[in-house]
Amino acid sequence: MSDRVEVLVGPGTVIRSGRVTAWAGPTASLALVGFLRQSLCNVGPSERGGQLLVDHVAGILAGRDPEPQAAFAAVGPAETGWVAILHGPAQLWDGSETTTPPPNVGWARVPLVPNPLVAVGPAGSPAPRLVSGSPYDLVEGTVPGGGFMLVTGHPGGAGSPPSPAPPLSRGTPAGPGSVPEPTDAPALPEGAELVALGSTEPQGYRPLPGVAEPAAPGSGPIVDLTYCPAGHPNHPALQRCARCRAAITPRASERGHRPPLGVLLADDGTVYRLDGDLLIGSDPAADPEVTRGRFGVLRLTSPVGSLAPVHAEIRISGWEPSITDRGSANGTHLVRAGTEDWERLTPFRPEPLEPGSHVSLGQRVLTFVSPWPLQQPR
Ligand SMILES: [Zn+2]
Repeated sequence: MSDRVEVLVGPGTVIRSGRVTAWAGPTASLALVGFLRQSLCNVGPSERGGQLLVDHVAGILAGRDPEPQAAFAAVGPAETGWVAILHGPAQLWDGSETTTPPPNVGWARVPLVPNPLVAVGPAGSPAPRLVSGSPYDLVEGTVPGGGFMLVTGHPGGAGSPPSPAPPLSRGTPAGPGSVPEPTDAPALPEGAELVALGSTEPQGYRPLPGVAEPAAPGSGPIVDLTYCPAGHPNHPALQRCARCRAAITPRASERGHRPPLGVLLADDGTVYRLDGDLLIGSDPAADPEVTRGRFGVLRLTSPVGSLAPVHAEIRISGWEPSITDRGSANGTHLVRAGTEDWERLTPFRPEPLEPGSHVSLGQRVLTFVSPWPLQQPR
């Protein structure tokens, strides 16, 4: 399976991650380009990355259009066929016809069959010609460009038919009423004067939620656990299954793959699955522990720039996560579950992170939500 993305010369930005490609026109803000780039990085590896991206962007646009004049478009695979989103003065050419968003809506979701190619660029541009041997072949990354041509490969090798796709529909976008509303940010605790509420991303864009795909079963570390009659893994202290509520007969715990511990819910509604050790900060990926694969990364942006590149870390031992401030200048604060006051963590001293706890760092708040009990097994 190989797709070829040929960058067209002109103003704007072309982004490719995996099988998802996007173009943003020259009037798109840096925040919009950054949002597209981050979102593509998140969904690019998925076999239905195009659909994840289009659903997410449509959800945002159904609530509010942060930059109605900006042209952008993205194309990627869906569960069946491919899907594109067109916004503002952007167009998509499928080899025979040109599609633009209806002006009264301003954007359109377009199911399509790359046949064998689609071209994306500014509205009104002539149909591009495929030049064999063009050097502008984008494999991955973000480059200047005035649009792109996508030539898709066929799954399954030579001789197999292309995957079925829904028929083309033009000028009938999924209207705002038929796409999911973006979820609201969670309520925050009283007295949280450290907290900047509302959208902290420029222009109202926020990164794609980190929980786009379910965790692969049996991928967690080996811990003590019990199984319900249906075989769901459970925290050993539970008497009913967290998933199906079936009674669990008391018996000695076994060893098995731990399911994800829960999620970290950010103040902007982003959800991050907690199933391994994490570094949190403005640029944690640069830490050598991350490069070595010891830690995952939770990258946050702070409205006041007060996050350290590596600000705090979460480590999980068995079923017990702990949080540690990494000596940050502005500190890491914690509201423990069942209490109301923020306390500043002593640098480099781990504190238990119990379900229901709120963590504040760099004027951002993460809430730990988990189906597992507060009481830790002894
Ligand atoms: Zn169960």
